[in-house]
Amino acid sequence: MAQLRFNALKKLSERTPVHVDMPGPNVSKFYGELVFGAEQMRGTLAPAVYKKVSQAIKNHEKIDEATADAVASAAKSWAMAKGASHFTHWFQPMTGGTAEKHDSFFDALSGIEKFKGSELVQQEPDASSFPSGGIRSTFEARGYTAWDPTSPMFIYGTTLCIPTVFVSYTGETLDAKAPLLKALKAVDLAATKVCQMFDKDIQHVVASLGAEQEYFVVDRALFDARPDLVMAGRSVFGHAPARGQQMEDHYFGSIPPRVYDFMKEFEIEAWKLGIPVRTRHNEVAPSQFEVAPLFEEVNVANDHNQLMMDVMNRVGEKHNLKILFHEKPFAGLNGSGKHNNWSLITDTGVNLYAPTSSARDNLLFLTFFITTIKAVHEHADLLRASIATPGNDFRLGANEAPPAIMSVFIGSQMTAVLDELEKKGNVKIEKGDNMYMKLGIDQIPEIILDATDRNRTSPFAFTGNKFEFRAVGGSDNCGTAMTALNTIVAEQLENFYELVNAEIEKGEEKRLAIVNVLRTYIKESKDIRFEGDGYSDDWVKEAAKRKLGNVKNMVRALDAYTTKKSAALFEKHGVMSHKENEARVEIKLESYIKRVQIEARVIGDLAMNHIVPTAIAYQTKLIENANGLKGLGVDNTAVVQTIKEISGHIDAIKANVRAMVEERKRINKVTDTHKRAIAYCDDIKEKYFDVIRDAVDKLELLVDNEDWPLVKYRELLFLR
Ligand code: ADP
Ligand code: MG
Repeated sequence: MAQLRFNALKKLSERTPVHVDMPGPNVSKFYGELVFGAEQMRGTLAPAVYKKVSQAIKNHEKIDEATADAVASAAKSWAMAKGASHFTHWFQPMTGGTAEKHDSFFDALSGIEKFKGSELVQQEPDASSFPSGGIRSTFEARGYTAWDPTSPMFIYGTTLCIPTVFVSYTGETLDAKAPLLKALKAVDLAATKVCQMFDKDIQHVVASLGAEQEYFVVDRALFDARPDLVMAGRSVFGHAPARGQQMEDHYFGSIPPRVYDFMKEFEIEAWKLGIPVRTRHNEVAPSQFEVAPLFEEVNVANDHNQLMMDVMNRVGEKHNLKILFHEKPFAGLNGSGKHNNWSLITDTGVNLYAPTSSARDNLLFLTFFITTIKAVHEHADLLRASIATPGNDFRLGANEAPPAIMSVFIGSQMTAVLDELEKKGNVKIEKGDNMYMKLGIDQIPEIILDATDRNRTSPFAFTGNKFEFRAVGGSDNCGTAMTALNTIVAEQLENFYELVNAEIEKGEEKRLAIVNVLRTYIKESKDIRFEGDGYSDDWVKEAAKRKLGNVKNMVRALDAYTTKKSAALFEKHGVMSHKENEARVEIKLESYIKRVQIEARVIGDLAMNHIVPTAIAYQTKLIENANGLKGLGVDNTAVVQTIKEISGHIDAIKANVRAMVEERKRINKVTDTHKRAIAYCDDIKEKYFDVIRDAVDKLELLVDNEDWPLVKYRELLFLR
């Protein structure tokens, strides 16, 4: 058995870097060359048509048939000139990842290449195999994909990809993108209303996202020799290497050559696709890296993140590398997140989360800043639910990632500003007073110092001109977190707008009405603010005192979606109907169950078929040795002791695997999905995974290295 491991190690020792050349000296020469973006549309469409498309995009409107025909025809010519032969509706079903089904431009019936507006606008893929949470029964398999003109088409391979939403036959959304688009519209409407209290010129507010992607890289051969990585994306066994991340020498260290070539190539491919990747570096754990793009409008940024993950996988293959996006592929080491940097920016170019040197403008900044904190306080449970993935359960609260407790970090400077504003709650402001000075908000530092030395332990941190939602998992679709965040902020902004107007109606001056509501918000949301060490036990205790949620697993976290409050919130803002919301939770629970089921099987198979036989074989050698020693009259106590230890672990593995199988049989009969998911969480994962792992990992230390069948952590993580 150990042959698999040693063959893999041999392959690895023969690897050489795959050299990559830049297509030219300037990225600008090929950046976006595979994208049918605004510039290409302007160049290929009649001015009137182009104007219609851009207006529709800006105002969240439908595009008429004639316009769609014109766009389709232009896109086809452009794509064919670049070698594309097919088109596909590219969408993001609830399975995670993306889906596509290719159709050729060539129409055999007419003998020419065709692409009609109707084909651009809508397609009917057979949707029966995509999860629908019971919305769509299989005999009614039809679902629609519908063009999302706000995200540009692009060529991938020889296929023109059209970003689309995925909707059931009866109109319910079945993907990550549709609710996101609706949430972005909601936040645009609410934020614009609030902005217009300050500046009538503002017509739109756009949410922006910069998603920093963390990932691990392992050699392809080593990956293939680890069935758990292949089947579950994470290692279910593996003793911590003698050296983990304690040296802290990997972070920002020099990038290993094979990984460097891989990065170079995927960046080139990403640039061609108009994905603005910019930063690359080593992360904290050995073999962990990060890529960060420049921020873009949320919907496009999320499409780009999804596409980038795919590009990384494909380019990785070429370099004999496997890219792991799982939130926690290796126990005991840092997990991978996808920090969602987020802000709101007006169509007049103002970042609403950037403090300025003007006291007046800062009232606008404070309005958005404080309202966002209040929104997180009001809907912390929903934010927690929005980042729930099976993998994130292993990462959150594991002492090197934000805990499952939602809190907001704002830094000492902004804390001082809010404290001052709160303290001066009863200050009387007379006509002619400088209100800003009297309230201590006349001088907000433009540069927030904490942004450079910020609290890395916070799940939701203000970093100078944006918030960073750090709890999002590495493998997740940002759309889910962004849908929740933008919806709760939209809701809070509307609430703010109404409260301020109510005060104005009572005769209060507008500026003062605004300040009064903000002061109330500061007081009401104080408990969500935390500046200390989010990894500490003290925080867990303190958070409990403050009655903040600390939901450790996905299944229970998801309950927050279907509370009356959340369901009403989504419905009110047109993001999701009750039915859609419930279907999504159902899909997530089903997928959770399957994931835990697969992991349980992998654990059982590996333990019984790989580990136990290896341990028994080694034990037999020891028994021969013990007998030999005895025959010579030499003390064999130590060997006998090891034999007993091995027996103990083998027994523990067998007993627990058997019990786990029985338990699964029982649980699989539970018909209620929620109950079944809870049972998989509590009675399978929590009860058996760690005990079995513990016994296996102990055996790894006892059994001869030459016999051990699984590629070890030190090999996976340190050899490249
Ligand atoms: P750091 O690396 O220190 O976290 P950066 O300034 O490099 O901070 O930004 C990290 C990510 O945040 C990048 O993707 C960047 O484009 C993004 N970002 C910067 N400003 C904004 C903003 N206003 N809105 C959204 N994302 C932003
Ligand atoms: Mg960051």
